[in-house]
Amino acid sequence: METFYMYINGKWVQSTNTNVIDVINPSNGEKIAIIPRGTQEDVDSAVKAAKSAFHKEDWRKVKAFERGEILFAIADKIKAHRDELAELESLDVGKPLSQAYADVDAAVRYFRFYGGAADKLMGDTIPIEDGVLDYVVHEPVGVTAHIIPWNYPLQIISRSVAAALATGNTVVVKSAEDTPMTAMRLTEFFDELRLPAGVFNHVTGYGHEAGAALASHPLINHVTFTGSVNTGISVGEAAMANVVPSTLELGGKSPNIVFADCDVESALEGVIQSIIQNAGQTCSAGSRLLVEESFKQVFVERIVKRFNSLTIGPGIQDKDIGPILNEKQFRHIMRMIELAKEEGDILTGGNPVTVKDYERGFYMHPTVIDGIDRDSRLAQEEIFGPVLTVFTFKDIEEALELANSTDYGLVTGIWTKNINTAHYLASRIDSGQIFINNYGAGGGVQMPFGGYKKSGFGREKGWAALYNYTVMKNVAVKYS
Ligand code: NAD
Repeated sequence: METFYMYINGKWVQSTNTNVIDVINPSNGEKIAIIPRGTQEDVDSAVKAAKSAFHKEDWRKVKAFERGEILFAIADKIKAHRDELAELESLDVGKPLSQAYADVDAAVRYFRFYGGAADKLMGDTIPIEDGVLDYVVHEPVGVTAHIIPWNYPLQIISRSVAAALATGNTVVVKSAEDTPMTAMRLTEFFDELRLPAGVFNHVTGYGHEAGAALASHPLINHVTFTGSVNTGISVGEAAMANVVPSTLELGGKSPNIVFADCDVESALEGVIQSIIQNAGQTCSAGSRLLVEESFKQVFVERIVKRFNSLTIGPGIQDKDIGPILNEKQFRHIMRMIELAKEEGDILTGGNPVTVKDYERGFYMHPTVIDGIDRDSRLAQEEIFGPVLTVFTFKDIEEALELANSTDYGLVTGIWTKNINTAHYLASRIDSGQIFINNYGAGGGVQMPFGGYKKSGFGREKGWAALYNYTVMKNVAVKYS
């Protein structure tokens, strides 16, 4: 069992109140670490350290390409510790080991992508008149806050922290209280690089304490939050009270729209993988299957058959489906399944699973729900488990209406060989990302990612994210 500290102003520190939080391995319910329960005072120290570092010459004078080299060095360290980090992520989140490896590889790519971008974010000149030079520069915003959810901790820290450092900001991370392990290891890598004190800070603790203190701190200049809608709203409000911008990456109820003319094998695999990945505890999970009515029976039978053959077990054994994060999350899923029993039909699953020697983990059979109302809670709310709800459509307009029928708009999959159908839907669906005949191509490091509607606003990943962490300044010079 490990004891961790927070990292503030280049030093490892305990919380001011010395209270701790237990970190539990979801696969077997055992305690694997303790982290400090950070307080408002701890957050205040971290933000002040980041503010002071931002204004000091030893960070300002680091050249753009040198910032890139720092990020490359972090990427190299992550890569060198690939096995260790994947095992740690699998242990901490419960996700199957091969998926944890994919997360580690994505983290490497984020640091490389933004390392390469560090000296390439160009400004502009604007034609005004003879004797006037007008130029636009992208300056760093200052202190950036990064509030991280429990489901993809290493990837999500990497994507926003790398973009913020590439553009010359300083950083305060608040990791997820349930899954801080890889964030801690990443912090050790930053410590080994001996960056100027205060450039990178990491506080741990509960959301309503450390998280809320960070989001509302008056010295923060930008907040990146990834998590649930309600928390996102309160984080956004706290930032707005200081007139500070936020990037909110929130939940989803993403549809896979399957037409009868699709390539059946790839659609089947796409639909299944998108809902079982990380046991469905994924913001972009394909949790709604919208299938053409004439094709429903054949397709859904195939899904049920595959669901029944999937293996379930601890993350480290790399089965198809790992445990649910904790009892609270598990009970939430089971309550939704009880509702499904009353309101619709469960075609397979719906039951807890006991895994021998891992009895304290919260495992469940992947579940397919049919026959529910389009306006029901099951159809509208994030379940956040390996639970797929099925709806049918008669024609393209009904498919479109169904796709847009929730408050969310994060990701959409469209499966058809008809190019007109695919592009028509892509142009009409309110969704931050649309995948045609695939779901999540290439891991998405380079593609802007974010929500329509209550899935959030602002974009992470890709080049677009660099603008979250910069502010435009226009300079007009009159000369003679
Ligand atoms: P959560 O909202 O409970 O917590 C997210 C983070 O916010 C945690 O670090 C938590 O400690 C902190 N927090 C909680 N209350 C806070 C407050 N009042 N002020 C400031 N911070 C606070 O979310 P979660 O349960 O960790 O993650 C699951 C949710 O995240 C799901 O809804 C999922 O869809 C969403 N998510 C979205 C994305 C995306 O990129 N769009 C990615 C992953 C997860």
